[in-house]
Amino acid sequence: MALVGRSSHQEGTNKMKHKYGPCTFCGGEVSERLIEHEYRWQAELFLFEKVPAGVCQQCGEVYFTIDTVKALEQAVLSKARPQRTIQVPVFVYPELVPA
Ligand SMILES: [Zn+2]
Repeated sequence: MALVGRSSHQEGTNKMKHKYGPCTFCGGEVSERLIEHEYRWQAELFLFEKVPAGVCQQCGEVYFTIDTVKALEQAVLSKARPQRTIQVPVFVYPELVPA
């Protein structure tokens, strides 16, 4: 999945695996995985799949590199064409519980 596919000179660095330090919350081991990430921008919700992120093996805290965050922001701000669009059901809690 290419989020920023335009500048070819960036391609080499994007494929390098990032070395994550120990988790800043619990000190656990952080290893890289591809995760699903939700991103809210104004009134819209964006879903990113297969995002490389460091995930703590102990507490599950997620770490993104600056490059990854930039790529997500770029996709949202540039209104890049998504691979697909899904519908998200919205519930308003007071409507679920009769007074
Ligand atoms: Zn942790």
